[in-house]
Amino acid sequence: MKAGIIGLGNMGGRMVKRLLEQGVEVGVFDLNKDFVRKFVEIGAKEATSPADLARNYPYVLTVLPNVFIVKETLTSPEGLMEGMNSDSLLIEMTTSIPSVTKELSALLKEKGLKMIDAPVSGGVKKAEEGTLSIMVGGEEADFERAKPLLECLGSNIFHVGEAGAGHTIKALNNMISATTLAATGEAMALGVKLGLDPEKMLNVINASTGRSFSSDFKFPNQVLTRKFEVGFTLDLMVKDLKIAMAMAEEEKVPMFISSASFQLWKHAWSQGGGDQDHTAIVKYIEEMFSVEIKGS
Ligand code: NAD
Repeated sequence: MKAGIIGLGNMGGRMVKRLLEQGVEVGVFDLNKDFVRKFVEIGAKEATSPADLARNYPYVLTVLPNVFIVKETLTSPEGLMEGMNSDSLLIEMTTSIPSVTKELSALLKEKGLKMIDAPVSGGVKKAEEGTLSIMVGGEEADFERAKPLLECLGSNIFHVGEAGAGHTIKALNNMISATTLAATGEAMALGVKLGLDPEKMLNVINASTGRSFSSDFKFPNQVLTRKFEVGFTLDLMVKDLKIAMAMAEEEKVPMFISSASFQLWKHAWSQGGGDQDHTAIVKYIEEMFSVEIKGS
């Protein structure tokens, strides 16, 4: 198999490595030439532009910060659309705005080009292991065609509906994930204030109904250790929450719980800058409670 990847950051870079390990021929493009060099050294081939990548690889994966950059990468001169042909399949893995994804999908269709949206969940660790969850929107035949490649990257692969459906469920998943992390942070901070030991609290929570990915993974590995480096920034989490809130607004439905969580996330984001790891939200909760949730 041959696949080209645009966007070699925290997620895309690990996907390149994983695909190379699986014997896939990989082409790469990124504005950051240091990243490009790093992957060329381990066997990837450099493309000179998105169009060049699309001319040489039947599967093209975009793993970019947001949908506006995806749109630019598709439509600008020497962009992907200039290089794609009827045998190309664009696999759009960015966490994006579903309505814009639908527009892009329709634009490609007009030109006889094919695309699926295939955002991922599981973070850098699962990207490294090839055990991501991948949620796909688009036509069944395109999903089937992408499946052998997606199976190199993920162990839970779902076709959830038409174009944009993958991006819809991804935003909803992250809204739950963000809200759970914030709620767990508040509970842990209150427990510490009341004199409880954070490790013992997590032992109980993780054997009880309060358990989540946040309590099971993020708190023991990132908060108690004071590492705060999952590899997913505050910028990206706030972007995902904005997408979810906009979807709700579009449908004219209230989001009581998620709105409260969103305000807390925006507070942390405006205070400390978006480059911090998203787990740093807990530091802002700690500040409000005047405690530190630290392991021994
Ligand atoms: P990142 O910021 O680490 O990487 C983005 C990469 O895109 C960078 O290497 C950057 O140089 C490159 N880039 C930016 N503009 C470009 C352009 N015009 N042309 C070519 N390259 C360009 O981001 P990430 O953490 O890898 O996330 C990528 C996407 O995956 C985001 O949409 C994010 O929401 C989603 N995601 C991330 C995680 C995670 O844990 N990091 C998990 C699930 C989904």
